[in-house]
Amino acid sequence: MSKNVSRRGFLEKAAGVAAGAAVIGEFPHLNLGFGTGSPAGLPMVLVSGGKTWASNAAWEVLKDGGDALDAVHAGAMAAEVYPSDTSVGVGGLPNEEGVVQLDCTIMDGKSMQCGAVGCIEGIEHPSSVARAVMEHTDHCMIVGHYATEFAVKMGHQVTDISDEASRSWYRRWVARRSDTDDWLSEEESAIKMKRPLPPSERGRRQRELEHTYGTINVLAVDVNGQVAGCTTTSGLSGKIPGRCGDSPIVGAGLYVLRDVGAAGFTGRGEEVIRICGSFTVCEMMRRGMSPTEAGREAIRRMVEETNDGNANFSDNAVAINAKGEHGSFTVSGRINYTIHNPDGQQRIQR
Ligand code: ASP
Repeated sequence: MSKNVSRRGFLEKAAGVAAGAAVIGEFPHLNLGFGTGSPAGLPMVLVSGGKTWASNAAWEVLKDGGDALDAVHAGAMAAEVYPSDTSVGVGGLPNEEGVVQLDCTIMDGKSMQCGAVGCIEGIEHPSSVARAVMEHTDHCMIVGHYATEFAVKMGHQVTDISDEASRSWYRRWVARRSDTDDWLSEEESAIKMKRPLPPSERGRRQRELEHTYGTINVLAVDVNGQVAGCTTTSGLSGKIPGRCGDSPIVGAGLYVLRDVGAAGFTGRGEEVIRICGSFTVCEMMRRGMSPTEAGREAIRRMVEETNDGNANFSDNAVAINAKGEHGSFTVSGRINYTIHNPDGQQRIQR
């Protein structure tokens, strides 16, 4: 999902917490979860958000008896090149220097192997590069320009993966960042050029100053009960170059446990990293919790134990188990994911 979050507000509120301002009982969304205990059977795929194009691509693989790993890879690839998705792959929102840097992890439950790339630039399909790290090297993670160089060795082409929408977001973001530099905001430009200010400008100005999150988690169980997952993203918009969120970190933005299930996170990655979010969800499912209960426990730790009850940020856990049960738990107050199983495709929104 994509969500605007005020990072500065978060830090200010966190400072208040240090002074003893907030407690868990005041946190309004902690009971918001959704899931099902009655699966429609296998195979199944879960995709975070309403990205039906990704679940369709994964389902195409699963429905004919395909492998969970191939399915999550197909789903991630569909998202990475989907036009108008500004949170993943081509057209992803750039960092503070205007460069799109992508993060991705892929994990296979059958072999318990994983691969990841962080801050890769100019490559359309970070999921394929992450998979190549897993399948063609003895490593788990390659980052920065080395990830791009590795991708080239694997046959990928370096291209400009920004598009007009992401470039235009960047121009507005940069222009609004400071009143003292030489970049003009649309408001300042309108004044300079004696043009009327667009009416929507004021609200948009505030929203776009804030950082934007967005990611896709693709989790699947195939007909043989094998589980796999992939998390792919352009990460936090306007981030400091080189910043890796949770998405390329195995156990944070994605984890898979053979015979147990898979979990992924979206939202402010810094919070997910601090609780090893996806690993925690999988570990809770291993101990017998449902996907929703396991997501709740991870979010509870994030809010209650790591942030002293303060949660002025957005994070969402999604999870499936090896039986095809699915669930989600959220800090943001909105549940939004898509599943595809023998019953068909269903968008779950609360
Ligand atoms: N978790 C991602 C990150 O922090 C962003 C997101 O999921 O929205 O980079």
